[in-house]
Amino acid sequence: METAIFEQLEQLARDLGAFKAKVIPTKDVPTDASFRTLCEKNTCHSYGMNYGCPPDVGTVEEVLEALYSYQYILVYQYVGELEDSFDFEGMTAAGDRHRALVYRFRDEADAGITLPRRLYLGAGGCRYCKTCARVTNEPCRFPEKRLASLESYCVNVSQLAKAADMKYINGQNTVTYFGGMLFDLQ
Ligand code: SF4
Repeated sequence: METAIFEQLEQLARDLGAFKAKVIPTKDVPTDASFRTLCEKNTCHSYGMNYGCPPDVGTVEEVLEALYSYQYILVYQYVGELEDSFDFEGMTAAGDRHRALVYRFRDEADAGITLPRRLYLGAGGCRYCKTCARVTNEPCRFPEKRLASLESYCVNVSQLAKAADMKYINGQNTVTYFGGMLFDLQ
């Protein structure tokens, strides 16, 4: 049964546009608490401005406890083509396509695959609303849709790629984004 569900999840991610997808035990997920310091530097301007980002996702201790409380993680990656390594528009467009994949995967997995517990993680903060309600200090408009990133859970994504037999970078003139779904089977 385990293998069948793993294959079902991996296949669903690939069918929706993921380049690769693999389930690994959550105990093999590499994390690094120092990543939180990078978020605190706020170079992306999302720190304290998005419910899917720190500090609102929880303290380092809380996110690590939550992450390792799950049995497994489905890791998947989206690879976008770029015109060249300065193609910033292409990177943004690929990021949008990756986000669409994450949301579609969530919708289809929620509808079609029964699991006792799951938590979806993407890349970057939550972009479900055009402007996050955190900016104006209102409550999250769609708590069930809120999406935090792998990085905000202190996941070392380059090491995660290795753990899932994937490449972190997939060739010249490409950009790679990762998504994940933590889950339990029982
Ligand atoms: S659902 Fe909307 S308000 Fe809630 S975290 Fe996401 S972007 Fe922010």
